[in-house]
Amino acid sequence: SELDGSNAHEEKIFVSVRLRPLNERELARNEISDWECINNTTIIFKNSLQERTLLPAAYTFDRVFGCDCPTKQVYEEAAKKVALSVLSGINSSIFAYGQTSSGKTYTMSGVTECAILDIYDYIDKHCEREFVLKFSAMEIYNESVSDLLSTDSTPLRLLDDPERGTMIEKLSEVTLRDSDHVRELLAYCIPEDQRQIGETTLNEASSRSHQILRLTVESSAREYLRAANSSSLTASVSFIDLAGSECASQTLSAGTRLKEGCHINRSLLTLGTVIRKLSKGRNGHIPYRDSKLTRILQNCLGGNARTAIICTMSPAHSHVEKSRNTLLFASCAK
Ligand code: ADP
Ligand code: MG
Repeated sequence: SELDGSNAHEEKIFVSVRLRPLNERELARNEISDWECINNTTIIFKNSLQERTLLPAAYTFDRVFGCDCPTKQVYEEAAKKVALSVLSGINSSIFAYGQTSSGKTYTMSGVTECAILDIYDYIDKHCEREFVLKFSAMEIYNESVSDLLSTDSTPLRLLDDPERGTMIEKLSEVTLRDSDHVRELLAYCIPEDQRQIGETTLNEASSRSHQILRLTVESSAREYLRAANSSSLTASVSFIDLAGSECASQTLSAGTRLKEGCHINRSLLTLGTVIRKLSKGRNGHIPYRDSKLTRILQNCLGGNARTAIICTMSPAHSHVEKSRNTLLFASCAK
């Protein structure tokens, strides 16, 4: 079936890379694209001979998407399965990782929209069950968590609940009417102008903050069927638009860090550590508690949860170093 549970023990994180097209500014500078997807899974560095570099020229992932690939296809092939697992009661998370201006917000907003439409479509076709959907949105900036659905900007506290794990005190949770309601809420918490962050605004707070949109799905069999099928399910799917990956480069010198307007981003660094450890096998200590982001996402990252990471990349030669760092991160996550 579309929600086949046969991969319930498939623990790997699904890692994909999406190359965006050169933008007008880059084309005006006569930049050429350094990278090319040679098939569905491999991306190559085209100028490796000229560069005489010892770094690898080809990188392989679960899926790679070239610059002319529409978001709908990225969603279908890299995120859909993970997103829809929420309907079977399995927690999941979908991340966009990449440098500022590489296409994280462009990709995540499209992926989120597609996922929500698919989830509503599934609900419409399954009248035998009753569904309740709840939506929350939060932002982490300088290790401070705020509610994107509230006008109150007081930082939210994280609390440990012995049953449910990390809870976010006072976080708004809106029960959804329908898919249009989600659109209204998305428009409210991520204004359209914020979705268009270019490289000129590299120092903006938005490139240093993480946005988490969380959809919780509760379902149960309808009253008249309850005797036959009494299972009730609750799970959530989180869509995470991460801070620019330039904020977590461990190789940055103090001078570069200043230039980039980045301080060490604890949440992004810890996420990297958690993902590397999870991808190496799940034994040993996973340092979820070291950052706000990983605490909040603990139950949809690792364990029985499903995770997809879409790494976004600029094709421009002027971004080659950051692109390589992104591929390095993606390789460690595999
Ligand atoms: P980020 O969130 O990583 O900083 P954005 O998503 O804001 O980057 O993308 C930067 C710019 O590039 C935006 O104007 C966006 O519309 C454009 N863009 C990004 N990815 C694509 C793509 N795959 N196709 C077309 N335009 C894109
Ligand atoms: Mg963005």
